[in-house]
Order: sequence, then structure tokens, then C-alpha cells
Amino acid sequence: MDSVKKKILVVEDEKKIALMLAYNIKKEGYECTTVYDGESGLTEALGGGYDLILLDIMLPRMNGYEVCEKVRLVSQVPIIFLTAKEEEKDKILGLDTGADDYVTKPFSFGELMSRIRANIRRSSGEVVAEKKAALDIIQIGELKVDGDHYLVTKNDEPIELSKKDYDFIAFLAANVGKAYSREALLEEIWGYDDYYGDIRTVDVTVCRIRNKIEKDPAKPEYLMTKRGVGYYLAKH
Ligand code: CA
Repeated sequence: MDSVKKKILVVEDEKKIALMLAYNIKKEGYECTTVYDGESGLTEALGGGYDLILLDIMLPRMNGYEVCEKVRLVSQVPIIFLTAKEEEKDKILGLDTGADDYVTKPFSFGELMSRIRANIRRSSGEVVAEKKAALDIIQIGELKVDGDHYLVTKNDEPIELSKKDYDFIAFLAANVGKAYSREALLEEIWGYDDYYGDIRTVDVTVCRIRNKIEKDPAKPEYLMTKRGVGYYLAKH
């Protein structure tokens, strides 16, 4: 157990939200610093030794996207965007801003804290190693996972995948042969504690991916079910 308190930076110009965030974050046992504009956010983020940053997008002096890009030049600290609307969410998903996650306002603190815990956990230790491994090119039979280009090919034919589908394959490919429970996958890929996630999400994803990569989705050769455990990518 780490007895040193993790430090969280909140960059949010709506004071009411910022104070509420700080109150709840401290209650969960973290240290929390709050700043109200993008420039101060960037300065704090670069100098403060934070374990995670909650970053609003519409901010005075410098917007959240810019702050995120500039932080990413020097730091891999987990960044969660606080987005106000669906359009912003789409923008985040479409842009390569370097953010790790996002929550849409209004959000529940339960969900936010679950995301914070998952992202801090992911950024320290084992999971980072797995994530990094996923950035190499991994060949499994006819299947190739190219982490540099976020691309999966089969017999050199690109397979069209959503970001999450890609993350799903890349994670299993980086740990080929190892089976993961649906709960574990939900946490690794979606960052949810099982309380907030729906494990059927994993089954639906598996089904969709099988339809794309398997010759016969009913008799998979790559994305396999391990009875009583979960799913894995088979070695070839
Ligand atoms: Ca704002």
C-alpha cells in the first residue's frame, strides 16, 4: 500500500464545480489543488508532481485541449477531461488530444471517483507495462496489431475497428494466451469498476470483433472464450 497521498489537480473555471470536486476528492483521501484558468492549470500541471489531472475544456486564457497537448509534451500524467456536452465528447474521441479519459457533465461523483481510481492505477505499475507493450507490432497468426498506427490487419487487410474495439484487441494481443474475466476487461479497457460498468458490454464487443476477424464467428480461432474465466487471444 502506498501511504503517500496521491495528488490531483483540478482545472475548472466554474468555482462551484471546482469546490465541489475538491471537497469530494479530499474526502476520498487524495490531496487536491484547484486552479481556475488554463494558464495556471498548465503551470501547476508542469510543476506540481500530480498523479492525475481533471481538466475542463472551456477555460479562460487557454482551453483544455491546449493545456493537454502542452502537458503531453513532457508528462504522461493521467488526464481526465470534464466535458460539458456531447459534441465535446465527440471531439475528444475524434482528436488525438492525449487525454486518457473523459466524463460528461453533469456526472456522479461515484462514477468520477471510479474513473480517477482506475486511471491512477493504470498509470502506475503493471498496467503501464502492458499498455506500452501494446504499442509494438504484434503478429498472431494472420492477425497483426500495429500499435504505432492503431491498426489491426488480417492477411494485410485492414480491419475497421472503433477505438475501444482496437484497445480491446491490442490489450489481449499484448497479453496473448492469457485469459481475462469480463470484469477485468471492463476495468482495463473501459476503466470502469464493475459496479458502474455492464459486463455485457464486453460480450457485445467480443461478438462484434469476432464478426470482423474470424472466418467463422461461431467457431473462433483468435478471440477465444475460456469457459468460466473470460476471453483471450489464442497463440498461433
Ligand atoms: Ca468551463
